[in-house]
Amino acid sequence: MNLYDYIQDGTLFIVPSFTRQKILRTIDEKGNFYRLKFMTMGEFLERFLFSYDEEALVYFSKTYHVKPSIAKIYLEHMKYIESANIPSLEFLQKQKVELDEKGLLHRDALFPSILASYRVVVSGDVSPFERKILERVEQITSVTILDQDEVVPHSVPMYSFLTASFMVSFVANEVMKLVKQGVSLNSIYLMNVGDEVSFELERTFSLYGIPLRNQESSSLYGTYFGAKVKKVLETATTFQEIEEALQEEECFPMFLNVLNRYSFYEGNVQDIKEFLLEELRNCQKQKVNYEEAVSIVPFSSLIQEDCHVFLFDFNQDFPTTYKDEDFFRDDVKKELGLWTSTEKNLHSRTDAIRDIYSFSNITLLYRKMSNDGEMYPSSLLDELLVEKKEVEPTLTIYSPLSKKLDLARKFDLHQKYGIIDQEGKELAGFYQDIGYQSYRHAYTSISVSDFLEHCNHHLTLSYSDLNQFYECSFAYYLSKILKLDAFEESFYTIVGNVFHAVLATCFSKPDFSFEKSWKQEVSKYSFDARGKFFLMKLKSDLEFIIATIRKQMTVSSFDHILCEKRIEIPKHVPGLDITFKGFVDKILYTEDMGMTYVAIIDYKTGNPELNLRLAEYGLSLQLPVYLYLVSKSHLFSNVKFTGFYLQKILNNEITIQKGKAYQEQKEDNLKLQGYTNSSSVAMMKIDQDYASSSVVKGLKCKKNGELSSNSKVKTDAEMDALVSLVDQKIDECIESIVKADFTINPKVINGKNESCGYCPFRAICYHDDRDLIRITTVEKEGEEDAEMDE
Ligand code: SF4
Repeated sequence: MNLYDYIQDGTLFIVPSFTRQKILRTIDEKGNFYRLKFMTMGEFLERFLFSYDEEALVYFSKTYHVKPSIAKIYLEHMKYIESANIPSLEFLQKQKVELDEKGLLHRDALFPSILASYRVVVSGDVSPFERKILERVEQITSVTILDQDEVVPHSVPMYSFLTASFMVSFVANEVMKLVKQGVSLNSIYLMNVGDEVSFELERTFSLYGIPLRNQESSSLYGTYFGAKVKKVLETATTFQEIEEALQEEECFPMFLNVLNRYSFYEGNVQDIKEFLLEELRNCQKQKVNYEEAVSIVPFSSLIQEDCHVFLFDFNQDFPTTYKDEDFFRDDVKKELGLWTSTEKNLHSRTDAIRDIYSFSNITLLYRKMSNDGEMYPSSLLDELLVEKKEVEPTLTIYSPLSKKLDLARKFDLHQKYGIIDQEGKELAGFYQDIGYQSYRHAYTSISVSDFLEHCNHHLTLSYSDLNQFYECSFAYYLSKILKLDAFEESFYTIVGNVFHAVLATCFSKPDFSFEKSWKQEVSKYSFDARGKFFLMKLKSDLEFIIATIRKQMTVSSFDHILCEKRIEIPKHVPGLDITFKGFVDKILYTEDMGMTYVAIIDYKTGNPELNLRLAEYGLSLQLPVYLYLVSKSHLFSNVKFTGFYLQKILNNEITIQKGKAYQEQKEDNLKLQGYTNSSSVAMMKIDQDYASSSVVKGLKCKKNGELSSNSKVKTDAEMDALVSLVDQKIDECIESIVKADFTINPKVINGKNESCGYCPFRAICYHDDRDLIRITTVEKEGEEDAEMDE
C-alpha cells in the first residue's frame, strides 16, 4: 500500500507539510470527505512529549543571559533528552527540570485519548529516537511506518549553463513550451531554488507573465513595515504604544499575533524588544494565491510522479552535506537515537537519488558560475543515469524583453571572453539594436512640481543633511528625499544616546544624581551579556568625563548654561517652506559690561575632524553651523562669541605622551577642540589661565605671552564671515534642492574619495570617474593646521 491508500476515515498522517497539501489536493480531486488528521513529525513530538511558549523563551533567555534565537535552540533540544543519562547533558536536564517545575513546559494530557481514535501513518525518514516514541504510541493505537518506495532508474536530462540568469531564462522558455502543449501550470514544479535563482526567477518569470507560487514567502523584517516596527520598538515601553503606532498599517494584523503571544509580559516592552524583533523576522509576507501557477517547492516534496520538475543548482552543494557541528555532537546523537551527521549524509544522498528517479519528467540544471565564483556539478552525477543535453536555440520568442536581456548578457560574455554561442548569434541577427551599452547612469532631473508635492512643500534641513548634500547631492536625494536609508541601531549609537542624555541634565539640574540618571537612560534599551559588560566600563568613563568637565568649568567665568538647545531658523523660497534646525549640546554664557559672552560646545561620540579649508565647498561645516544657529537665534543680545568647540566624549583613545600620567592624558583628551576668540578678554572667559591651555586644545602662547601663530583663534570679523559663509552654503543647497537638482557629484579631496567609502548607495548610483569632483586644499604659509587632533 502506498501513502494515498491510507486516505480513509480515522487516519492520522505524520508527514512533511508539503505532503499534507498534496494529500489534501488528491482528496479534493476525489471529491470525498474523510476524517483525517495531519501533523509533521515535529508537531507530533510536541503534542506527544511537551511544548513550550514565549513565556518559557523569555524566562530562559533572561535567566541564562542568552539571545532569543539561542534560547530557542536549547528549548528545542530538550525534547530529545526525555530519559537520557548522558553526563554532558546534565546541565540541559537540570534546565529542563527547572522549566518543568515552573510550569513552563506544557504537556497535553488529552492527546493520548485523541490518538486512540486514529490509526497513525508515518512517511519520511524515521530516526531511532522517533521509532522509540512511535513504539510508545503503538501501545495506544496502530502505527504504520511506510517504507520508501523502490524506484526504477531512468535516464534524466541535464543542462548546463554559465550563470543563473541563463538557467532561469531556459526554464521560462520550457514552461511556455509546456503550456503550449496544454500542460497546467499547477503541475510544474521548481525545486532547490536558492536566493540567487529566486531573484532571477521573480524577474524573468514576471517578464514572461508566468505566475509563481512560493511555499516560503519572504520575511516582513526587511519591508517598509518592518522598518516602522523597528523604529517604534526603539522607544515604546508598552504594548499599547506599539499598537497605537502601527494599527493603521496593512501588515499590522500579522504582527498583532506576535504581540498577543507576548501579552503575558507585564514589564517594560524594552526588556523583550529582542524577542519581538526576532519574531518579526519570522513573520511572513502575505502570499498571493493564484489559481494556476508554477510552484517553488523544497526538494523532495512529495508531488505526483508525472508532474514536470526542474531541479535547479544540481551543483556541489546538492544534496545538502551535514557536518558534526550541531547543538548535539555526533556521539551524543548516537546515544539519543538521532541521526549522526554521517547517517544524515547517507540518507541525504540515497533520498536525493530516489526522489530524482521518482519523477518521470525531471530536468537537472547545473550552472558554472555563481555570484561568488566558480561552481561544480553535484557529486551525484556519477551515480545517476544522466543524459547531458545542449540548449537548442529557441525559434519562438515568448518574451522579447527577456530575450533582449539574454542577448545583452551574451554581448557581455563576448566582450569579456570573446565567446558567443549559436543562440547569441541568432539573437544578434534578429534584434539589430538593443541599445547595448547605451545606458547612462547620470541623474536625469525629476519634475520640480512632483518633487515639491512629494515633500508636501516643506523640508527640514540639518547640519548632517547639508553635509551629505555637499558630499554628494544624489546620496542626499536617495537618503533624505526617497528615504532609502535603513537605520540600524547599534550598541555604539545607543551608548551615544545615553551619554548625551546624561550630559544634558548633569550640569543644569541642581538635584542631579548620576546613578539615577544613568539607570533611567540605560533602562530604555535592552542589552545582551556582552553589552552589559561594556556598559560597566563606559559608565565609569562617563563619570570621569563629567568630573573632568566640572573641573574645566571651575577655571571659566561662565555662570549660565543651556543644554540640548533646539534652534530652528526658518527659510523660505517660493513653493517650499524650509526649516534649518539643530540641537546645540551645550551653550555656556555670562554677561559682563553689557556684553553676553557665549561659548558653544558640541559633544562628539565619533572622531571629529574640522577642516575649515573645506568650508567653501560646503563641507566640514559642523562647528560653523552651530555658530550660525546660535548667532541667528536671537537667544542673546549684544553677543560676543568666546569660541565654538567639539568635545570628544567617546572614542577618546589615548595617544601616549611621554612624561604625562595616564589620568592627565585622559583629561587632555577631553579638552575642547575648536576655535577661540582672539581677544584675550574673551579667551579668559573660557579659561582664566588660557596661556597654559588647560581647557582648550590648540591655544599656544609664546614665551613673551603672545599667542603663537598656530593657535586656533578667530577674530570677531572672521567669525562673522563664517556665519555668512554658512548662510550662503545653506542658500545654495536650498537653491539646488528646489530645482530638484540631485546630480551625482561625490567629492575627491586631496586625491581621496571621501564621499563613496561608506555610502550605502554604492550599488545604486553606478557612479564612475566622470562624476568625481576633485578638490585640492592647499595649505598656505602660516595657515593653521586642518586637523583638530594634534
Ligand atoms: S556611492 Fe558615491 S556617488 Fe554614489 S550615491 Fe554614494 S556618494 Fe554618491
